[in-house]
Amino acid sequence: MRLIIMGPPGAGKGTQAKFIAERYSIPAISTGDIFRANVSQGTPLGVEAQKYMDAGEYVPDQVTNLMVRNRIDEPDAVNGFLLDGYPRTLAQVEELDGMIKFTGHRLDAVVCLTVDQDEVVQRLLQRAQVEGRADDTEEVIRRRQELYQEETAPLIDVYRDRGIVHEIVGMGEVDEVTQRIFDALDAVEQS
Ligand code: AMP
Repeated sequence: MRLIIMGPPGAGKGTQAKFIAERYSIPAISTGDIFRANVSQGTPLGVEAQKYMDAGEYVPDQVTNLMVRNRIDEPDAVNGFLLDGYPRTLAQVEELDGMIKFTGHRLDAVVCLTVDQDEVVQRLLQRAQVEGRADDTEEVIRRRQELYQEETAPLIDVYRDRGIVHEIVGMGEVDEVTQRIFDALDAVEQS
C-alpha cells in the first residue's frame, strides 16, 4: 500500500506511523527524521535544512522533493510506503503524484489524525523536555502550528476530493488510535 499520514505537529503521526508500517510491511518514511539524521551527520543537505528547521519553517520544496524521490526509489519501498510529514505543500502533492504515477501505482489512502489543538501544544512542550529538539521551543512550536494550518491543512481537501481521506480521532490512548487506523486501513487493503 502507498499511504500518507497527516495531522498537525504533535498529533502522534510518528508513533502511529511505526505501527502502521509494521502491520502492512512497508517502510515508514519520515521527512523530518531524514532531515534530522542529515543534520546530526553534518551532511550538505543537513546544513541546508537546519536553518529552516530551527525556525520552524519548511525546507524548500526542491530540496525536499528530491530527497523523497531518492528515498522511495530504494528497494524496500518498491511494494509500498507510508509517508509521514510529506507532502506539506501543494507543490509537493503534485510532485508525489508524478512519482507514484511514474511507477504505475496509485496512492491508496491518506490517514488524517484529528486532535484538540491545546492538547497538541501540550504534547509538544512535553516532548521538548524529553527529547530536547531544537525546533520544540514555544515560539517555534507556535510557528509550526501556524504553518501547518496555512499550508498543509488545505491539502487534506485535495485528497478528500479524491475520496481517499480517512479521518481518525487522534485523541485517547495510543493503542486505541492505532486500532482505529487499522480498522480503516484493513478495509482499504481488502477493497
Ligand atoms: P517533522 O518531524 O515532520 O515535524 O519535521 C520537522 C521539520 O523538518 C519541519 O518543521 C520542517 O522544517 C522540516 N520538514 C519535514 N518535512 C518537510 C516537508 N515535507 N517539507 C518541508 N519541510 C519539511
